Amino acid sequence: MKKKYKHIFFDLDNTLWDFKINSFFALEKTYLNFIGENKNVLFEDFNNVYNFHNTKLWKGYREKTISKKELVKKRFQNTFDELKLGGFDPVSFNSFYLDEMSKQTHLITGSLDLLNYLKSKKYVMSIITNGFREVQYKKLENSGLKPYFQKMFISEVVKTPKPGVEIFEHAIKSVNAKKSESLMIGDDWEVDVIGAAGFGIDSVFFTPEPYESENIPIIKIKYKTLIYTIHSLIQLKDLL
Ligand SMILES: [Mg+2]
Repeated sequence: MKKKYKHIFFDLDNTLWDFKINSFFALEKTYLNFIGENKNVLFEDFNNVYNFHNTKLWKGYREKTISKKELVKKRFQNTFDELKLGGFDPVSFNSFYLDEMSKQTHLITGSLDLLNYLKSKKYVMSIITNGFREVQYKKLENSGLKPYFQKMFISEVVKTPKPGVEIFEHAIKSVNAKKSESLMIGDDWEVDVIGAAGFGIDSVFFTPEPYESENIPIIKIKYKTLIYTIHSLIQLKDLL
């Protein structure tokens, strides 16, 4: 039997908006603009080193051990340092990158198909995202996703990022949703799935690659919420 959900909350990056591809292109444009091709560093290496530092620093930002200002500066400064690239301003680099990022429009396969389907079924859809306000709104607008969503809740605005309960609480109150009628869909196990489970709503773990974790069955018992796993967005049509 299908469970009756009314409110669907989506994560944005790598759930609907293809962050991996979009970030790659935005970073490449930034790299070419500031560094060009005359340095002995391949863009692929730059991209890998940047992603390593960015992921690590974002964890610190989520856990509130570093500020946004430090995050956006250090992710590039650490990349420059590691690759021995001197003389570039990490702050200008970051601004250019964020600007390019918001212009990118690649979506995860099946996004629009799924959203049209859910819209036709009258689900109320919102976004809960850990991101910066100056980028997330533009991404939504430029990629054509905006018309599907009633609201977007951004961690920077709400002040506490996922997996903290505050942002989930704020979101469901704002759209008058009941926990029992709400479903969270996201690609990050810790942030989206455990975040939603900890708050007490059912969730969908969207993992294009099969995910190996001994924690999954234990977490399910601990939180007593349903956790579904999908490998393609279109699979949600079977659930909703
Ligand atoms: Mg995500």
